[in-house]
Amino acid sequence: SGNTEKQLMMLRDYGVTGLVATPSYALYLSEAVKEAGYPLSDYKLRLGILGSEPCTPAMRSQIEANFNIRVSDNYGMTELGGPGVSGDCEARNGMHFAEDHFLPEIINHDTGERLGEGEVGELVITTLTRRGMPVLRYRTKDITRISYEPCPCGRTHARMAKTMGRTDDMLIIKGVNVFPTQIENILINIKDIAPHYMLIITRENFRDSLEIKVELENVELLENYQRLSDLKKHIEAKMQSILGLRTKVTLVAPKTIERFQGKAKRIVDLRNQ
Ligand SMILES: [Zn+2]
Repeated sequence: SGNTEKQLMMLRDYGVTGLVATPSYALYLSEAVKEAGYPLSDYKLRLGILGSEPCTPAMRSQIEANFNIRVSDNYGMTELGGPGVSGDCEARNGMHFAEDHFLPEIINHDTGERLGEGEVGELVITTLTRRGMPVLRYRTKDITRISYEPCPCGRTHARMAKTMGRTDDMLIIKGVNVFPTQIENILINIKDIAPHYMLIITRENFRDSLEIKVELENVELLENYQRLSDLKKHIEAKMQSILGLRTKVTLVAPKTIERFQGKAKRIVDLRNQ
């Protein structure tokens, strides 16, 4: 990551066909392409392999549209040898584990008890072929579920659902358990907003409050007070009904929320300051 113009220049000059990046950096690069002044036909990109942070369907479609490529969601972690633990196929029906190298299990993260197919819990991985530093029942802290059903693509390897959060990034706001991915999932289904947001948590008089800053897709909406206010109320109502939590939504102009070149940092928790 880093040095966007140089990255774009190398993508063009070397005729790169595959891009491996975090979704937020791929999105950032794909937006930069539009402004860089070279037509898309100058690039030979065909495939994006995205990983290391959650990618929403909206981000994925935007990257695909901007670059005119197909992107695949991938899961991995440094402790397990990097990317390649699982990845999605053309059916986009969960990420297939490389089961010849990894043995996945799901456990209850409080009791350590092993859970069954389809049950949501912490992903635990044992490496089967790794030498030097094999890991046995490594607790990933990622929350997901596993399916062993055959996939329409014909592959028989087990599939994991998109991770629903991490056991350690669960936020507790006013006593309610909230995963940032829940908020993301609500936002991506709402029209007129872009897939860029920040969560700001503050505490005043011992009361927590959550502010959700979201970028508008179109700057003109900022001048239409009625529509702006309706949209804000609509998002707040959705949050209240799904999270069970009152939130404050702030709609901001396009491209005003920071873009990240590595993993996105979307949570600002000011409660202990
Ligand atoms: Zn498949």
